[in-house]
Amino acid sequence: MILTDSTGLPAGGIGKFAKEISISTAVRGAVSVPLPASSPIRSTSRGLFSRLRTVPFILLHLAALAVICFVPITWTSAGLMVGFYFLRMFGITGGYHRYFAHRSYRTSRLFQFALAWIGCSAVQKGPLWWALNHRHHHRYSDEEDDPHSPVVRTIWWSHVGWVLSGQYRKTNLEEIKDYSVFRELRILNKLHWLPGLVLGTLCYLIDGMSGLGWGFVVGTVALYHATFLVNSACHIWGRRRYETSDRSKNNWWAALITMGEGWHNNHHHYMSSARQGFMWWEVDVSYYIIRSLAFVGIVWDVREPTEKALATKRIAS
Ligand SMILES: [Zn+2]
Ligand SMILES: [Zn+2]
Repeated sequence: MILTDSTGLPAGGIGKFAKEISISTAVRGAVSVPLPASSPIRSTSRGLFSRLRTVPFILLHLAALAVICFVPITWTSAGLMVGFYFLRMFGITGGYHRYFAHRSYRTSRLFQFALAWIGCSAVQKGPLWWALNHRHHHRYSDEEDDPHSPVVRTIWWSHVGWVLSGQYRKTNLEEIKDYSVFRELRILNKLHWLPGLVLGTLCYLIDGMSGLGWGFVVGTVALYHATFLVNSACHIWGRRRYETSDRSKNNWWAALITMGEGWHNNHHHYMSSARQGFMWWEVDVSYYIIRSLAFVGIVWDVREPTEKALATKRIAS
C-alpha cells in the first residue's frame, strides 16, 4: 500500500524536498527567476545535446504548418484527426493526469499499461516523467520550484518554454516509486516515442499522406497546445471558486478542449478527485469516461470530493 499525504500524492519523495528549500517569494512576477540549485526533476545540464532533444518538437510544428498549407484534408483524415485527438487527450487527462499523477482511481495492471500507451501516443514523453513533473507542479504551485508557473515566470515559459529549455527531460525514478516499480512502465517511459511512431504509421496506412499529416501531425500539435493551456491559461484567465495557495483558475473554454481539465481551480482545491467539474454544468468528459469505465468494471475506487471539501474555502461570489 502506498502512503499518501493530504494531497493524495505519495508521502516522502518530493515532499521531503519541500522542506529542504527556502526561497523568497518576493521575486514573483519577475521575467527570469533562477530555480533552486538542486531539484529532483530538473537537470543541471543545459548543453547543446540537451537542447538538440527539442529539435523533433520544433520540426513537428513546422511539419504541421506544411501539412496545413500543402496537404489536402480528406473526410478520413479529418476523422482520424478528431478521433485520435480525443482518444489521446483522454490518455493524457484520464491516464497521465488523473491516474498516474493523482491516483484518483484504481485499475488492473493491464489497463494501467493501456492508459500509459495511449498517453504516450500523444508524444508528451512517458507516463512516469509526466506524472512526476505534474506532482512537482502541485507541490510548488506558483512558487519558484514550480516547473511551469506563469506567475513566477512568463506565459511563454509556462506554455512551452520549460519544455524547450531542456532542463526537465530526465525522469528521477526514485521520486515516483509507486509506479516505477512496474517494469513495463519503466520500459515504456524510456521508449516513449514508440506509441507515437506506431500511431503515425497507422494513420499513413489508412489514408496516406493526408492520414499522416492531418490525422497524426496536426492532431499532435493541437494536443500539445490544448494540454499546455492548462499550465499557462488556467493559471491566468478564468474564475476562482476556491481559495487555494496558487493562482489556479476555472476556465470553461479550456475545459471544453481538454475534456474537463480547465476546471483547474477546482482541481487544485481537491486534486485527488477523479472529477474536476464539481457543478453539473461544468462539463468534464474525462470524468464521464472514467465513470463509464467504472460502470463496466474496468476501473474502480473512483475518488470524489467530499461534501465538506466542496464547501470549504469557497470564495464568496
Ligand atoms: Zn496548476
Ligand atoms: Zn493535477
